[in-house]
Amino acid sequence: MERVLILSPHTDDAELGCGATITRFIEEGKNILWVVFSTAEESLPEDMAPDTLETEFRNVARNLKLNADSIIINHFKVRYLHEKRQEILELLVKIRNSFDPELVIGPSLNDFHQDHTIVANEMVRAFKSHSSIISYELPWNHITFNTQLFFKVTSKHLEQKINILKEYKSQMKKERSYFSRDFIRGLAITRGIQVNADFAEAFEVIKWIES
Ligand SMILES: [Zn+2]
Repeated sequence: MERVLILSPHTDDAELGCGATITRFIEEGKNILWVVFSTAEESLPEDMAPDTLETEFRNVARNLKLNADSIIINHFKVRYLHEKRQEILELLVKIRNSFDPELVIGPSLNDFHQDHTIVANEMVRAFKSHSSIISYELPWNHITFNTQLFFKVTSKHLEQKINILKEYKSQMKKERSYFSRDFIRGLAITRGIQVNADFAEAFEVIKWIES
């Protein structure tokens, strides 16, 4: 599994859901393509520049030493991704044909955020016959989450996850509890205990293809 496509409805979703696994994949030399759908200009306080979240995401990519070709930033309007469903599908099909990922990681089909639901559904529609598809865990958005696949990570990967999330100063400022070090470590310890490891991140498996 060399080519990994990561789908983030908003800039911080993939970091929160699987930031430690991403740092593990980068360390393993996988070819990463990371697509963001909305930079959520509309949900920022008025005193912040509209491109704040885009800048913060670019800082994350820089921090992870990803080159410019490894990220694609779209500017769909936050909470209105449903209005662009077909456009999002076509974008994903284009990426499927050019990047041809072996693994796609995106939101869960059990995620109740309206934008996450759209990306999850279009992800399955676009990649169901081509790629393995797994979903990252964002517990505050789920009622159910099936912990079917685990990536073990080291404390170094986990520290890197906490470190890249610090790039989101606009979100840290809001004191969102799921940005806290205690929560991130606690969840990684919980998932680690399930697989006899110090730390892990859990995923749902939508489809798995071995060639
Ligand atoms: Zn989101």
